[in-house]
Amino acid sequence: MKYRIGLDLGSTAIKVVLVKGQAIEWSRKVPTAPGQEHLAMGLVKDALDQFGLSDRDIDKVSATGYGKKLVSSAGHTVDEISANAQGMFALSEGRCRTIINIGGQDLKVINLADNGKISDFRMNDKCAAGTGRFFEQVARILDTPLESFGEMSLKADDALELNSTCVVFAESEIVSLLAKGVKKENIIKGLHYSIARRITHLLGRQTTDGDIYLDGGPSQNPGLLDALEDELLMEVKVLPQPQFTVAFGAAIS
Ligand code: ADP
Repeated sequence: MKYRIGLDLGSTAIKVVLVKGQAIEWSRKVPTAPGQEHLAMGLVKDALDQFGLSDRDIDKVSATGYGKKLVSSAGHTVDEISANAQGMFALSEGRCRTIINIGGQDLKVINLADNGKISDFRMNDKCAAGTGRFFEQVARILDTPLESFGEMSLKADDALELNSTCVVFAESEIVSLLAKGVKKENIIKGLHYSIARRITHLLGRQTTDGDIYLDGGPSQNPGLLDALEDELLMEVKVLPQPQFTVAFGAAIS
């Protein structure tokens, strides 16, 4: 069986997967930067080298994400919503009915019908709050690595209420909380709950129909997942490689 390659040229990260059948054999990401085609094709070369493959072993190279048109070597492009829907439906073995995708710069909710087709879609790309960029900015203000947010918020001893979800106001609110001696753990937990409430709002009423899956880079934060499940009073599932669902969906489409 031949392999397929999926490229997801996101606002914040370029993701590449090597796929055989319905399985992700290899995945890697790099931060988005100028020269996106060069960066993406560099990752493809790494995959081929690692598996001892040549171009002849590759059936199809598909690109998605906001930079998809920048890769002339991809023979096929797929819009990110379709790629996300196809990828998640296949990886969840047909169980997913709602996808919450948190990307670097936007927040999306995609509802799926029983056959995996998109039945509804909503996006918040007007405001950075709740997106990966927002988390990165808060990580800088708190001088704390983003990767430790999950663990830290689970150690919080107070459910602090953050009033601002706007990036600009949140920054000054966090600075003043730090000045008052509020623990970083409690600020991070408050942040997760305020973002979880925004997501719940975007989800609307269709939340109870079938299984909900969270994907995109920030879904690797267990503190955010915890807050979201608390707000929704429902289980929210995260697959093992949640940042690569969209690249996988492009590869299998
Ligand atoms: P895009 O497709 O828009 O580039 P991604 O789905 O690749 O977005 O997500 C990128 C975001 O993921 C980054 O902004 C970063 O904040 C976040 N991220 C990446 N790894 C982690 C992690 N381990 N924990 C929390 N957030 C993460």
